[in-house]
Amino acid sequence: MITKRIKVYGIVQGVGFRPTVARHAASLGIKGSVSNLGPYVEIYAQGEEQQVDRFIDLLRTQPPKRAAVLKMDIKAKDAPAYDDFNIVESAKTSGEIFVSPDIAICDECLKELFDKNNRRYLHPFINCTCCGPRLTILEALPYDRERTSMKRFPMCPDCEKEYYDPATRRYDAQPVCCNKCGPEVFVLDDEKNRRGREAITYVRSVIAGGGIAAIKGIGGFHLACNAYDNDAVKRLRELKHRPAKPFAVMMRDENEVLKNCYIEDYQRGILTGHQKPIILLAKKEDSAIAEQVAPGNPMLGVMLPYAPVQSLIFDYDDGIDMPACLVMTSGNLSGLPICRNDDDVRAEIRSYCDVVLTHNRRIIIRADDSVMDFYNGRPYMIRRSRGYAPLPYMMTKQFRGSVIAYGGELKNTFCVAVNSLMYPSSYIGDLTDLKGKNALKESAGRMMELLEAKPSHAVCDLHPLYNSSAAAEESGLPLIRVQHHYAHILSCMAENDYTDEVIGISLDGTGYGTDGTIWGGEILRCSLDGFERAGHIRPFLHTGGDIASREGFRIAISMLIDIFGDEAEAKCNELGLIRQGSFKTYKTMHDNRINTAVSTSCGRLFDAASAILGIRYEQSFEGEAAIALEFKAMEYEGDKVFDLGELIDGDVIATDRIIRYLAEEKLKGSDTAKLAYAFHYLLAKGVAKMAVARSDGIKTVALSGGCYQNKLLTGLTERELKENGYNVLLHSMVPPNDGGIALGQALYGMHKINNQEDI
Ligand code: ZN
Ligand code: ZN
Ligand code: FE
Repeated sequence: MITKRIKVYGIVQGVGFRPTVARHAASLGIKGSVSNLGPYVEIYAQGEEQQVDRFIDLLRTQPPKRAAVLKMDIKAKDAPAYDDFNIVESAKTSGEIFVSPDIAICDECLKELFDKNNRRYLHPFINCTCCGPRLTILEALPYDRERTSMKRFPMCPDCEKEYYDPATRRYDAQPVCCNKCGPEVFVLDDEKNRRGREAITYVRSVIAGGGIAAIKGIGGFHLACNAYDNDAVKRLRELKHRPAKPFAVMMRDENEVLKNCYIEDYQRGILTGHQKPIILLAKKEDSAIAEQVAPGNPMLGVMLPYAPVQSLIFDYDDGIDMPACLVMTSGNLSGLPICRNDDDVRAEIRSYCDVVLTHNRRIIIRADDSVMDFYNGRPYMIRRSRGYAPLPYMMTKQFRGSVIAYGGELKNTFCVAVNSLMYPSSYIGDLTDLKGKNALKESAGRMMELLEAKPSHAVCDLHPLYNSSAAAEESGLPLIRVQHHYAHILSCMAENDYTDEVIGISLDGTGYGTDGTIWGGEILRCSLDGFERAGHIRPFLHTGGDIASREGFRIAISMLIDIFGDEAEAKCNELGLIRQGSFKTYKTMHDNRINTAVSTSCGRLFDAASAILGIRYEQSFEGEAAIALEFKAMEYEGDKVFDLGELIDGDVIATDRIIRYLAEEKLKGSDTAKLAYAFHYLLAKGVAKMAVARSDGIKTVALSGGCYQNKLLTGLTERELKENGYNVLLHSMVPPNDGGIALGQALYGMHKINNQEDI
């Protein structure tokens, strides 16, 4: 008889780890115990040596489906004889903590949901040890029912029986419940007080009739309507004041996806996998999805139902004929955090919809849907949130201590670092007002509590007016400030677990530079200690202040004035750039520097190129003009080499030469798609050339910044660098946009506090 103590580290909470261990033990007659100690599960296994070895084998080869085992520690121990195998109640310890993200409904639960003979038939909250809410219902660790928002729902005897029976799929499943004892859906503020079945049927009838419904899911509310009904989608756009930004859709099942979209094998696995992000797929030409869903966009953001209530919206036994594809867009005021409770809904989105389907299980932490694109067959994340956050990045480099990084101002996420683990948060949103800032502060507070992190420092952006920086200041912790585009590169390094020197190409919207000007097209020589600005795109006058980020034609005019001097007026007129007023007004503003700033923003450069080519003169959401330019470029099939001679000039990338070329060629009547492609090609060539020229022995280049969401630009830059013999670090699961910078800030902060210089 021997006893071994086995410690298992990783995602071992909330994935049915202990029950699986108990089942393996029972199958081999092993005695002992298993307990959940927060950062790890501790197992005592007693039996014949051979049995114990087989048991350890089983743990390795057949862990629970959703677990992620990072490490196993095995030691022989002296122990008294056990009578049986027990699951010990959770005890609290500190150390490395892993919180499981929420998990989409599993196949077995889905089967039961529609099985008339199952006692959970049509139960909107069905779940088991392999699926269901986790992060979003969690108040504290360890993950046990009394520390989740399920604590208000005592189990009925039947559920309790399953919960305590190792032979069932719900053994030790914390959110287990049924139609008798679980939470309940109901129509919000309803005169008729429709609840349960009646509520679902009513909401389905509203949607089927062309109406708009708000539906509470796992991490927040969605606004939903029939995606085949152009009028319904158009009305939603008008109500939401969102003229063009694509809406995501939820499709009933995989068949519906195949009907409407092209899908590759590597995408299919993620579409149907247990995280269920929104994935970007190419739309089929004959798809009948309303044009208003993603106007002028060849791609469609698609997800499958992941909360049981969503499955019930598609399928129910009430005879209503439901569309198999619904618009499913975050229920929020444009840019703000997703609504999480009924009061949020009443204050923000009640007037956008005809009915609200809510429920009485509290959402403790918001989790907006993740959005994933693909690059060369690999995920290329646009928004990392539900299903992924807050899984940590484990750095090989050893750090001690803790910091909290507050991220950027748009697409905000924050990141808590504890020792060598970095936990990027779920998506908060834009911090354009106090609501956003408060959501950030509240979520950050919760996450620090959950992770039992006591940060010594707060890390934030250099920008003096960012709400994220204000949140960092209000934390009362000493501040560490990080330049925006350097943080982008650090984020790419952190994701790749790379901590040596790199050349960073940070192509981005706007960020505050160390010289007080607006940066955004930067070549930076970076180490964990700091960075040096090695090159940048040609500075231009950013005229019109904030308006210019919506009106690219203003930037175009300003650039053409610098490039063409006296000839600029005729060129601007011919290119149709004078959208309002007269050329003179813009010229006066430009010459007298009225409401202008010096800028190297690559995002604005894209907007200007888009306007010069007549693709988009202005935009209703960030990136619209650039995305349209990229799609236009993808249409080009001709000769793909362009030569404008030398593209770098000292530490300046001659982007003015590229803009001149576009304007002249466009006026000569050259093909717009060809010029759109040429722009990408020449820009990629220019930044790569600069990176090479300034590499000074460094052989690794990191690409980051919002403009690298553009896959054509990413591909062209990567190819150019690889042809020159450089290693290229790219993002994959962390977004290249501002949603990723908190991770970079956290890495910098941890390095700084571990090398206590000047802080
Ligand atoms: Zn399940
Ligand atoms: Zn029950
Ligand atoms: Fe940025």
